Amino acid sequence: MAERHFTCTACGKCCYGWLPLTLDEALVHAGRFPLVLVWTPLRQGARAFSLTARLGTTVRLGKRKEFAVGVVPTSYIPPALACPALTTDGLCAIQDVKPTRCRTMPFSAYREEADQRDLLVPRPGWDCDVSAAAPVAYRDKEIVSRQDFDRERKALLDQAPILRRYADWLLAASPPLMENLLKMAAKPAGGHVIVNFATLLPHLPKVDMGDFTAKQAPLMVEFAARTAGIAALTDYHRRYRECAAELGAR
Ligand code: SF4
Ligand code: SF4
Repeated sequence: MAERHFTCTACGKCCYGWLPLTLDEALVHAGRFPLVLVWTPLRQGARAFSLTARLGTTVRLGKRKEFAVGVVPTSYIPPALACPALTTDGLCAIQDVKPTRCRTMPFSAYREEADQRDLLVPRPGWDCDVSAAAPVAYRDKEIVSRQDFDRERKALLDQAPILRRYADWLLAASPPLMENLLKMAAKPAGGHVIVNFATLLPHLPKVDMGDFTAKQAPLMVEFAARTAGIAALTDYHRRYRECAAELGAR
């Protein structure tokens, strides 16, 4: 019997960089997280190909080549910067309403359940407890305490039709997007294409655009200021400015 132990010690060290969100969470937290859509093409044969196709969309190139494309609403923060909800003492300030992705850690509903094992190996510097004293979290490729994983997976499947309709529309409307995706897919290590979240808004039911803009635009301006003049963060800075302009902010 293959067992892996894991428990979170709430060290806060994984609360940096990109944070995938559900659509509902992105809208609820629009005043907290700078939002983009992360598009990720996967080649046929990749481990998460069929799940990614179910949660996102597929792109066909020629008669034989097909790519699965993940389209993920994301809090777009450089890896060295903390989540805006992380307090100075390393705790989550929004514990009661923190995103599904954070609750499911270290597991990920973007992967098949049988393919979670390496997520139970903490990255360097993380203080997750994986000792024999920690509870068994994963046994024989099955998640032991699975409520959060199941909730995240259900949320992703429920929202998939909205994302697929939007993705198919934008792919048809934007040849450069398709070109960029194919470039990323051709890289040996893969890659991502970042798309402004505002492109999705007309495709979402019941969005109060004024409310969304009032929350999101100042955040983009703030993050543009935080990343200004830092050579390694040029792409982030450019994106924040572009999003701010698209939302009518300067
Ligand atoms: S929302 Fe809370 S738990 Fe999630 S990354 Fe931010 S600080 Fe960490
Ligand atoms: S790094 Fe590990 S222990 Fe620290 S907050 Fe994240 S999951 Fe918990």
